[in-house]
Amino acid sequence: MQKFHIPSYSQSHFGTQHILISLLFLIFVSISLMAPFSTYTLLEDGRLLPLVESFYTIQGEGFHTGEAAFFIRLGGCDVGCSWCDAKETWNPQLFPPVPIERIVEGALECQAKSVVITGGEPMNYPLDRLCAALKENGLKIFLETSGSAPLSGTFDWICLSPKRNAPPREEFFPLADELKVIIEEHTDFIWAEENKEKIIAASKQRASVRGWAEPCYFFLQPEWSRMKVVMPQVIEYVKGNPTWCISLQSHKFMNIP
Ligand code: SF4
Repeated sequence: MQKFHIPSYSQSHFGTQHILISLLFLIFVSISLMAPFSTYTLLEDGRLLPLVESFYTIQGEGFHTGEAAFFIRLGGCDVGCSWCDAKETWNPQLFPPVPIERIVEGALECQAKSVVITGGEPMNYPLDRLCAALKENGLKIFLETSGSAPLSGTFDWICLSPKRNAPPREEFFPLADELKVIIEEHTDFIWAEENKEKIIAASKQRASVRGWAEPCYFFLQPEWSRMKVVMPQVIEYVKGNPTWCISLQSHKFMNIP
């Protein structure tokens, strides 16, 4: 006679445990896979941004030097300038993504009338949502970019600071309100002139692209660590080429961020 196999209590209990563990494992794997995906999607969408820091201070460089502004510094840059004074921003994974609402709240908590979005390279992210939210709250938006990544967002002022490691995309030349070239060595003057020529060549498009035809302002900025060597060269260059002005990192003299 055939003997039927009747599972003992302990075998049945083991089977239930096994199923439960498998289910928990599946749930864990699903959550692990979904969490980064949803964060990634929100980053791709511009609802979250990797914020390094935000602070209310005085603009130290370029055309708006001396004006109060709320700075938003985003993490992530692959341009790799050897003299970069914000190397801690290069790896975006060090900075947890922050909802843009929280970034805007920070700007509204101070008396800022304008916001400077900088980095890192802020164009690594879609900034349309952040810009729209800042605009809804009546803030002027200034951008500081190398122009190495596609443009997103709308700005009241674009400061293009081109880097030879990763030259600007063509779309930035008709849009730049300010060209700021860092001078570390003599060949940087040639790089500065090349970029100025591209902006001048694109100036006919400015009115149609920008809606107005304000001129672009041209700045040469001595690289901070080479100031003593480079400053005399920059002074002489600007005296001989007066379409350029000198930009100094005045916030460093003022000991402010
Ligand atoms: S583009 Fe700006 S943030 Fe990026 S490496 Fe150069 S100086 Fe640093």
